[in-house]
Amino acid sequence: MKKETLIIGGGITGLSLAWELSCLGISSTIVEKAPFMGGHVSNFACKATQTCQKCGACQLEDYLSKVHKAENVDLMVSSTVDSLTQNGRDFKAMILQRKSMIVSDKCDDCGLCLKVCPVEGALFYPAFDSRLYISNEKCLNSIGVHCEICAQICPQGAVELQEKSREVETEVASIAICTGFSPYDPTQKLKFGYPRVPGVITSLELDSILRTGNFQSAAFGETPKSIAFIQCVGSRDPRSGTNYCSQICCGVSIRLARLIKNRYPDINLTIFYMDIQTFEREFDRTLDRAQSDINFIRAMPSEIHSDEDGFPRVVYHGGDETRQMALFDMVVLSVGIVPRDPDLPGSFPGLWKNRDGFIGSDDNGVDAGHPGIFVAGAAQGPKSISACVSHAILAASQIKRYLDRTMRGE
Ligand SMILES: Cc1cc2nc3c(=O)[nH]c(=O)nc-3n(C[C@H](O)[C@H](O)[C@H](O)COP(=O)(O)OP(=O)(O)OC[C@H]3O[C@@H](n4cnc5c(N)ncnc54)[C@H](O)[C@@H]3O)c2cc1C
Repeated sequence: MKKETLIIGGGITGLSLAWELSCLGISSTIVEKAPFMGGHVSNFACKATQTCQKCGACQLEDYLSKVHKAENVDLMVSSTVDSLTQNGRDFKAMILQRKSMIVSDKCDDCGLCLKVCPVEGALFYPAFDSRLYISNEKCLNSIGVHCEICAQICPQGAVELQEKSREVETEVASIAICTGFSPYDPTQKLKFGYPRVPGVITSLELDSILRTGNFQSAAFGETPKSIAFIQCVGSRDPRSGTNYCSQICCGVSIRLARLIKNRYPDINLTIFYMDIQTFEREFDRTLDRAQSDINFIRAMPSEIHSDEDGFPRVVYHGGDETRQMALFDMVVLSVGIVPRDPDLPGSFPGLWKNRDGFIGSDDNGVDAGHPGIFVAGAAQGPKSISACVSHAILAASQIKRYLDRTMRGE
């Protein structure tokens, strides 16, 4: 296997980078550790109401279909880079590829395994894919707990839990790190009651609920009548070590709220915020439109607890500093973007972290501190989908320049 660029991470950044490189005539291999491509965006709902809300989620489907058709892009799922060595100006990488634990030829989609699995989310259907997968991260076996319930119940014998893997060696001239981000873990903020208080969920969970349409399950078995969003959970917060704006959360909550209003006009919506950030083009218009449907309260709630009937009660200080309480059927914590451990081999040269803990880059925004190694997308700092695609386009042009210079022996 010989490709010019190794892309680590098959989220929207890795996919759009592979496509841009392909258009420039540069071949690439994407190594994705999950069993499917797409990263976080694969869980997002389309937020269109009567009109497109420009959330960007559909760009994933577009890039997925382009890279699947591109002849000079190889896709490797369930794979990680096991070791990396420098060979002159090139890099030699050993890639560990695990076999899918559900044999798609045998699986007849009966759903029995989903019903018996003891861990929520360990078996799942990603967006844009009708096949069932086992999550390498959530399956009990991945944390060393022996469990064979799904394999035992499967009438087709389609579940093969034994670890089967192969090693693939590749030599490449450049590497792009597109390993993305982690969502802020809201259990770190005990005061917001997640996951202790029923009805308190994260914005990622709401997005996924709206995609699959199962709204009731998260809110006491009924469609909620009132929903509050709490902004800046794990953003702009020096005490959490996240003293930066995640850039996407205001747009995300407003779009989700408008989508809910469009589908369920009777639901009352409230957004608690510190500042509404307007990073996107024409966001001021989105905000204007939202203000007629949504109640905006400028306050950072101090606590969320259950009332006598179990519903989430939000405690906050109003403009006149008086302590106030409001009861909702559902509270959505708008979680921010935090650095993810890129989980790369120790031999990876040159990598450094920027002030906020993301992978550092030099002034041009994509050089990762060693000739031939680049970083793009949310691995380098908080970004929207469109900003990730723009960053990938920049990375593609810098990789091309680098490869051209290498060819000339410079
Ligand atoms: C709550 C929430 C809602 C959001 N909603 C929107 C929205 O509506 N619109 C918008 O524009 N943006 C939104 N965003 C931002 C959006 O999620 C990011 O812009 C986008 O996911 C970043 O893409 P990425 O490819 O850089 O990273 P990711 O989506 O994180 O993808 C990275 C990929 O790399 C893989 N990976 C990681 N480490 C390795 C490794 N060592 N080896 C191999 N593979 C690896 C991961 O499995 C993953 O597939 C939202 C973010 C949050 C937190």
